[in-house]
Amino acid sequence: MNIKDHIREVPDFPKPGILFYDISTLLMHPAAWRHTVEQLAEAMAPHKPDLLAGIESRGFLVSAPLALKLGCGFIMLRKKGKLPGATVKHSYDLEYGTDTIEIQEGAVQPGQKVVLVDDLLATGGTMAAAAHLIRKVGGVVPAAACIIELTFLNGRSKLDMPVTTLAQYD
Ligand code: AMP
Repeated sequence: MNIKDHIREVPDFPKPGILFYDISTLLMHPAAWRHTVEQLAEAMAPHKPDLLAGIESRGFLVSAPLALKLGCGFIMLRKKGKLPGATVKHSYDLEYGTDTIEIQEGAVQPGQKVVLVDDLLATGGTMAAAAHLIRKVGGVVPAAACIIELTFLNGRSKLDMPVTTLAQYD
C-alpha cells in the first residue's frame, strides 16, 4: 500500500506557487486511511503517550483515530478564540506577522507525555510552536507524527524531538 497514491497534489493552492498536498483523497479510501493510522500507531506506541495533541485542523482528523488506536486521550491545539473556557496561549512568528495557538487550561497535567500530530510538516514552525505550548504547561513531548513531510523545507531542523512521517516529498 503506497500512501502517496492517495494524496492529491493541487498546484497554486491556497496561493500561486504553493503545491498543496491534499489528504481528502486519502480519507475517502478506507483501506489506505486505515493503513496510514496503523503505521503511525506502530511508530508512536513505543513513546507511550498519555495524550495526543492534534494541530488544527487536519491534525484533528489524524489524531482522533490514532488516539483510539493507541488507547490514549486526545486534546485539540487550536487557533486563537476557538476553545471555550480558560486557555493557555502561545504566539509565534510567521513569515509575515504572528499567529497564536491555544489549549484548554488543565488539558495537560505536568509530566504527561504528549505526542504532537499533524497532517503535514513543512517549515516546522507550527510543530515547534505546538511543542513550546505543551512544554509551557509542563507536558513532555517525546515525539511528533505527520503523514507528509516536505523534506526540502527541512522542518526537522527546528524540532528537538523525533518526528515520524510516512510520505516524504523533495
Ligand atoms: P509549517 O508550519 O510550515 O510546518 O506548516 C505546516 C502546517 O501548514 C500544517 O498544519 C499543514 O497542514 C499546513 N501546510 C503547509 N504547507 C502545506 C502544503 N504544501 N500542503 C498542505 N498543507 C500544508
